[in-house]
Amino acid sequence: MSKINEQLKRVLKYIKNGIPRTYVNVLSREIDSLFIGKRILITGGNSGIGLEIARKCIRGGALKCVITGRNEQKLIERCSELDRRGGVEYCVFDVSDAVNMEKYYGKCIEKAGGAFDIVVGNAGIFYEKDFYDYDESDWNRMFDTNLKGAYYLSQQAIKSFYQNGIKGNMVFITSERGIMADTHLYGISKAGLNSFIRGLAKSCSKDGIRVNGVAPGITATGINGIEPMNDLSHENALERVLRAEEIAEVAVFLMSDGSVCINGEIIVCDGGNTIV
Ligand code: NDP
Repeated sequence: MSKINEQLKRVLKYIKNGIPRTYVNVLSREIDSLFIGKRILITGGNSGIGLEIARKCIRGGALKCVITGRNEQKLIERCSELDRRGGVEYCVFDVSDAVNMEKYYGKCIEKAGGAFDIVVGNAGIFYEKDFYDYDESDWNRMFDTNLKGAYYLSQQAIKSFYQNGIKGNMVFITSERGIMADTHLYGISKAGLNSFIRGLAKSCSKDGIRVNGVAPGITATGINGIEPMNDLSHENALERVLRAEEIAEVAVFLMSDGSVCINGEIIVCDGGNTIV
């Protein structure tokens, strides 16, 4: 009975408003025009995966790309290396400092000359100890950067998307460790981040805002001291360590309009290492 009622209601609605039609333009763009007109923020953009994402954004024609980190000298050096046509700015910005997040985010917008269209939450730390050796300061350090930082960054980004009528896009760099059982603080912080990514996507999807994650396996960056040009053999499914450029490639896909049908996904980039 209720089904008949529903159908009747729909027919009446169609008679009143006409049959709804949805037209979709499928976008497929060349890499050098992926980000034309876009303002992009990348936290932790002065090294490793964040830096490779920044390189691709610039190649993709981004209007402005703001990279952040705590080390100003590194940011200055990376900026002058990346910035061949005035599209790159930096902002010293500690993501674990939730109290000042609004101020930092505002500064980044100033540097970009307008609200961001795409925000990449990439800043993160990694270290491990024996289970019994972790103390509360380890807990705070790990969670403040990897989870709290992402959470409060998102508050600012999502607020700004809504205030400026932007169908914004957030991409987080999480980890394969976030989908594995773990007793280490790093893995647990990334598991929390994975839940948050899906929750945030769910709450914003109706407004055209997208939130996705990339979950790399072990990748040669400063975080683990593995040199990308050295031997990358490793005991995992791929039998090697990944390169930051490979992770950036997937992040760029999620940041681009080419992935407009994807929301709330975490793409695991580990060559199948975590398939159970
Ligand atoms: P890097 O150490 O090269 O990069 C980490 C970046 O985060 C740096 O730019 C660093 O800049 C920044 N950062 C760290 N803490 C803070 C903070 N409190 N506030 C602001 N910026 C901060 O490592 P990766 O490129 O590997 O790491 C990027 C992301 O990838 C991380 O989230 C990491 O967890 C994740 N990941 C990495 C894997 C790997 O094996 N490499 C595997 C899985 C996930 P600065 O020091 O100037 O603050």
